[in-house]
Amino acid sequence: MKHVAIIGAGPAGLAAAEVLSQQGLRVTIFERMPSPARKFLMAGRGGLNLTHSEAIETFLPRYGTSASKIARFIEAHSPVDVVSWAEGLGQETFVGSSGRIFPKAMKASPLLRAWLRRLNAHGVEIKLHHTWLGWSDNGQPLISDNGAPAVAFPCDATILALGGASWPRLGSDGAWRTTLEENGIPVAPFVASNCGLHVDWSDHFRSRYSGQPLKRVAVTFEGETQRGEAVVTRQGLEGGAVYALSSTIAARTQGGAWVTIQLDLKPDEPHDIVANRLRRPRGKDSVANWLRKCLKLSPAAIGLLREASRDLPAEPEDLARLIKSLPLTVKGTSGLDRAISTAGGVPFDALDENLMLKTRPGTFLAGEMLDWDAPTGGYLLQATLSTGVAAATGVLAWLEA
Ligand SMILES: Cc1cc2nc3c(=O)[nH]c(=O)nc-3n(C[C@H](O)[C@H](O)[C@H](O)COP(=O)(O)OP(=O)(O)OC[C@H]3O[C@@H](n4cnc5c(N)ncnc54)[C@H](O)[C@@H]3O)c2cc1C
Repeated sequence: MKHVAIIGAGPAGLAAAEVLSQQGLRVTIFERMPSPARKFLMAGRGGLNLTHSEAIETFLPRYGTSASKIARFIEAHSPVDVVSWAEGLGQETFVGSSGRIFPKAMKASPLLRAWLRRLNAHGVEIKLHHTWLGWSDNGQPLISDNGAPAVAFPCDATILALGGASWPRLGSDGAWRTTLEENGIPVAPFVASNCGLHVDWSDHFRSRYSGQPLKRVAVTFEGETQRGEAVVTRQGLEGGAVYALSSTIAARTQGGAWVTIQLDLKPDEPHDIVANRLRRPRGKDSVANWLRKCLKLSPAAIGLLREASRDLPAEPEDLARLIKSLPLTVKGTSGLDRAISTAGGVPFDALDENLMLKTRPGTFLAGEMLDWDAPTGGYLLQATLSTGVAAATGVLAWLEA
């Protein structure tokens, strides 16, 4: 029986193990942490956005410059496949108002438990506290058991599913980058993606509005606009609308530079309508009450206007301009430690069409360690699972050949 080693028990590695074990191959997964899929479980804290319900023509461009590289893996194992997989594991799903798809349980643990049970039933062995450290002279994976000197693990093929470099305490710390580079395999620099922005709030604003949402805003940076929700944090801003721009902002603020983003607090209403509403007499209302009544602005949005300009413009036209394009200085991003995902990783050029390393026949790659990037919305897990399935399919074809 052919034996495949998979390194990394995250969703990419587990998806690959499922395909291979269902085809009757022997599979051993090596995971450096004391338990599998820690980042997947962390993703469950936010409800576990598995994928997105939008049409594939809209879905694929979400991967930006990597869309052309990742498209065929997602077409081969699509959002519909991810939903039927989750439901096959007993986790009913639903489509949220934004089109995102979640398990009804809104967490990862029941899905992971059922998944691990299925893998166990197929004979997949998971060896915890085992770290991959490179290759032996004859190309076998070198594995260290709990810090012991590494030994070569004899197998017919290997899948590396080592994850990105964000949230390193959950296991994927990007240490594999050095090992790959020492072996002549290129790795594009890691950049924090889908991460929060650092803004120097005043003490008053920070203490009053931290944790409050800015529902339906549009954030613009360098001509790119993202609509969605943002949340005020003690350090700055988080949430879908800023995450989508964060890898560009992270790149521009590297080395300490500051940048300015623009917030539109009424993205669904054009400037003229906003200005007209502001012509309504204030009467005895406080400014905050008047703004709330004229424009239904949230307390955090009104606080933000005051933060940007203590004396709000008196002219409706000028105030509307501020509401539609509020400038905010960003002094950096929250970095890899707290980023939801990592841009950078092994470029697709280093792999063949089946995700096998061109310079190391028999070694396949999957998941976030590959050089693709996407916003939040279920696109991360979708690409992770699709490339896990693709790498396993590649292993099957290669062993067959
Ligand atoms: C807070 C948070 C929320 C998220 N929410 C969502 C969401 O709702 N929807 C979504 O689509 N995505 C979400 N993500 C992203 C998603 O979790 C990741 O994209 C996904 O887990 C990547 O899967 P992976 O298998 O490639 O890597 P990982 O999940 O990182 O797994 C890699 C595994 O490899 C192991 N490993 C690394 N190096 C070695 C080594 N040398 N030897 C042995 N083992 C090793 C690691 O310990 C780890 O267990 C979220 C991420 C975070 C941090």
